[in-house]
Amino acid sequence: MPCEKCADLCVRYPIRQPNDLLKAIKIAKQNVEDGTIIELPDLESINQNSFATVASGEAWGDIVEYNFCCSNCSERFSLHAETYHGSGGYWEPKNKSSVRENL
Ligand SMILES: [Zn+2]
Repeated sequence: MPCEKCADLCVRYPIRQPNDLLKAIKIAKQNVEDGTIIELPDLESINQNSFATVASGEAWGDIVEYNFCCSNCSERFSLHAETYHGSGGYWEPKNKSSVRENL
């Protein structure tokens, strides 16, 4: 179960267009900055750009995939999208049963 701190992030947020991805990145960035979530380094990541690069407003790669965990309860979150073909993706908790609601 997610804790109170990250409960607001336990939503399945669909990313269908660049604007959705921008919003998801912005929300993740704010939560990283205020310490709610921590970016999990992924050495096998297929990302072309680090989250810090993307969050600072530079272009993202064709595949966006970042993982985060709650600093309080270790709930894990995934921000993933395929931007090249525009098939989109999701911001979502890794654990599907933690999803509070579908947006
Ligand atoms: Zn939590």
